[in-house]
Amino acid sequence: MADCIFCKIAAGEINARVVYEDADTIAFLDLNPQAPAHALIIPRRHIPRLTAAEDGDAELLGKLQLAAVRTAKFLKVEGAFRLVTNNGKAAGQSVDHLHYHLLAGRKLLWPPG
Ligand code: 5GP
Ligand code: ZN
Repeated sequence: MADCIFCKIAAGEINARVVYEDADTIAFLDLNPQAPAHALIIPRRHIPRLTAAEDGDAELLGKLQLAAVRTAKFLKVEGAFRLVTNNGKAAGQSVDHLHYHLLAGRKLLWPPG
């Protein structure tokens, strides 16, 4: 999608520190990390947010979770990490392309703020 920063990263038009990729998904380090390990896992295809996913996206959503596991293993944080998506502005979503945050490497508080 034109003007979507994460579509541009998926297409290689904007540089990112890619830590995992396959045909359907790509994971890269967050530009403004909130933990020692902070990666974003996205589908290559533009889906604005989780609530925009449809029945036909079920397999892709599963692949995203497996991509997150592979990302965690690559970053050597598979023993303890948090996987979260912000769905909607009030929930903290600032980029309108579905992404999961993978956070690790420090004590993660619960409940989150
Ligand atoms: P959100 O606030 O939508 O849940 O998360 C968006 C995330 O994308 C933020 O953590 C922000 O730091 C990250 N981000 C925004 N622009 C870029 C970029 O150009 N490159 C990378 N690697 N991360 C970005
Ligand atoms: Zn996009």
